Amino acid sequence: MAANLSSIGAPYDAARVRRDFPILATHVNGHPLVYLDSAASSQQPLPVLRAVEDYARQSHANVHRGVHALSQAATAAFEGARERVRRFINARSTREIVFVRGTTEAINLVAQAYARPRFGPGDEILISALEHHANIVPWQMVCQQSGCTLKVAPINRRGELVYEEFERLLGARTRLVAVAQVSNALGTVLPVARIVADAHARGAVVLIDGAQAVPHARVDARALGADFYAFSGHKMYAPTGIGVLYAREELLGSMPPWQGGGDMIRTVSFEQSTWNDLPWRFEAGTPNISGAVGLAAAMDYLESLGIEAVAAHESRLLALATAALARVPGVTLVGTAAHKASVLSFTLAGVHAHDLGTILDAEGVAVRTGHHCAMPVMTFFGIPATARASFGCYNTEEDVARFIAAVGKAREVFG
Ligand code: PLP
Repeated sequence: MAANLSSIGAPYDAARVRRDFPILATHVNGHPLVYLDSAASSQQPLPVLRAVEDYARQSHANVHRGVHALSQAATAAFEGARERVRRFINARSTREIVFVRGTTEAINLVAQAYARPRFGPGDEILISALEHHANIVPWQMVCQQSGCTLKVAPINRRGELVYEEFERLLGARTRLVAVAQVSNALGTVLPVARIVADAHARGAVVLIDGAQAVPHARVDARALGADFYAFSGHKMYAPTGIGVLYAREELLGSMPPWQGGGDMIRTVSFEQSTWNDLPWRFEAGTPNISGAVGLAAAMDYLESLGIEAVAAHESRLLALATAALARVPGVTLVGTAAHKASVLSFTLAGVHAHDLGTILDAEGVAVRTGHHCAMPVMTFFGIPATARASFGCYNTEEDVARFIAAVGKAREVFG
């Protein structure tokens, strides 16, 4: 049974939560797995695995087009998942919830269907220097296609946005601001409410990349006021291949379709086609129905744990691991912002991050190594790569201890 801790007011029991995730019973290289790569992709708990299997066993058919019972069951499951997402982020309407493959697709959708048709020479798109490639490259493509300009607000050596510079760059020409709520490479939490307010005050719309935020913080799309909010299911305990673009209905309704095909149309003739209502206008082709079902189950699961309780637990692990890692000789922490979530990036003197990752793997400890799809961040710090430990709802203090011991071992091997 899935843990339901918040509702009974019990202290957070990570060991019990861990048992909801069958994959975490795996042994790697003879050691029980310590999974510290949730920022890349989190694992799935039994309720998610079961929901996806039950859907496939009992309800699968194509959606929206069938009058037969299974098609209606599949449609109900898919549209039910959309309503679950709406509730999870407190959107006004399911018309504002577009199912996509993930954050990357959501941002490309906005780039191509919102920015590209509207922006031209003289217009500016403002991002920050700590963005994931998914929140850089789609805007570069729009700039090439439309002649608009990409501006980048700098970060400081702690990995925090230099807000005065951000404000300076946010001008009359800024049409769109696109920033992460939490940096995947550094863990920095950005002041997104302030960014939304300041951007709106200057007439710019705002896209928030919430890929690293939704698993760790309650997101209220309405309260935040962002125009677009993007996230991926697979970083919040759901399957891969499903994600969400939240878009304010007024904006989404003013956008032309992005991809054409089945489901996004109302009528088709060889002379012209007309478009379906929101949000289906932006969902061409057969969607990831089972993924949406899994996403809804993951949202139920996270809420059963209590997102605030999960966040508090992860913050404690992050603080523990940060303090312990900082004591290991040769370790440099990369990203030391005052406000961080769940991510601990670091280097070890004399050891390439990939070698470090390999040694940790030999100890059963899974961390990510490389540029974390944030090459400009690595360039800023003058390093090719970091090792990155990231924490999820199932990590324990024992995981932290094993991780620190494994880093110590790597130091001995290369020392
Ligand atoms: N944005 C951030 C901050 C991320 O961490 C990631 C994935 O690591 C993405 C965007 C891209 O997400 P996806 O690969 O699920 O589309």
